[in-house]
Amino acid sequence: MTKLAELIESELYDFGFNLFGSCKIEDYNNFVDNKYQIKNYKYKNIVLIGSGGRYFWDILQKYISENNFISPDPIDDYTVYALESIQKKYSKFIGNCFYSFKNESLSINFQKLALCTNIGFFSPYLKLILNLEYGSYISLRAAFLTNYSFKRDDGIKKIFCETCDKPCLNVCPVQAVNINNFDLKKCAEYRLEEKDCSNFCHVRRSCILGQEHIYSSQEGFHRSKSSLKIIKEYYDNT
Ligand code: SF4
Ligand code: SF4
Repeated sequence: MTKLAELIESELYDFGFNLFGSCKIEDYNNFVDNKYQIKNYKYKNIVLIGSGGRYFWDILQKYISENNFISPDPIDDYTVYALESIQKKYSKFIGNCFYSFKNESLSINFQKLALCTNIGFFSPYLKLILNLEYGSYISLRAAFLTNYSFKRDDGIKKIFCETCDKPCLNVCPVQAVNINNFDLKKCAEYRLEEKDCSNFCHVRRSCILGQEHIYSSQEGFHRSKSSLKIIKEYYDNT
């Protein structure tokens, strides 16, 4: 990793991003379907940035109070603000940026990118990327293209779930998660009743990974409310 890459990473860290992964665009392209592939770009590498645990939320709350930052989607809008600031400052080194929460002409497959950059492994039960340190309490926020080499963690390869006692399979009140399936419809219908799961998912909370990084109830409530809004919009339009 070059000094410049270290500097960019440390500035992104100060903005609240504490998860980084990088791989060659060629390796990512070989890993995803055609529609997610990155074509005709002059860069060699792709860098994934994200957050793990409570760190991002704490930085965001500080930024909100110091700058009177008002937004209906503070997490997303702050992410764009942070990355655009860094891109502007290091425009010679950072190329195209992509966001996991935006509909863009080129869609990056962030889950596959997280696997390719070794940020985590895919849980067949939670249907999420889990990080060995932060468990499911991670957020894959954005990616950018560059010719610089950024950190690559080669330590995460195995699917941890295989050897785990799987407490996650016995805690969902409506058994939406079981060994064979994640019944998204059952989960969504239960959540829409808004009696339970309003600031955390019992299944995620029971996962043995990342226990010490569980979101605060304020953050959990905010994130849960955002995902519930998406579920409601989906049901309203179908
Ligand atoms: S959010 Fe609630 S209903 Fe959905 S999987 Fe988690 S515990 Fe089950
Ligand atoms: S509790 Fe174990 S099996 Fe369940 S998602 Fe977490 S690591 Fe995987």
